[in-house]
Amino acid sequence: MALQSALYWRRNMLVHEIIEHNGAKYKYMGNGPTATGGNPGWSMSPDVFFRCIVCGYIMNGDPDVDDGCSCGKLHKDSGYGRLGSSLGDNAIEVFCRV
Ligand SMILES: [Zn+2]
Repeated sequence: MALQSALYWRRNMLVHEIIEHNGAKYKYMGNGPTATGGNPGWSMSPDVFFRCIVCGYIMNGDPDVDDGCSCGKLHKDSGYGRLGSSLGDNAIEVFCRV
């Protein structure tokens, strides 16, 4: 296989990455707010999930529920309508359930 097509295949695999967590499967959509369909902010919904790149915690995107990951980097505040990571928005991976 030519190197170029091998690289293309690898990139294609990353775009369609599926992960399993607690018996559910999630499809990787990208990093940051635009991966949720929001621009410039996050488009929050119970059908979207966020993963902390440090501890791997998977957070539901329900805007009415407060949440935080185990390492403390990723946090969601329903009262203020905020989602963020101390590492920046692009350090948040976005998934949807499959
Ligand atoms: Zn974390």
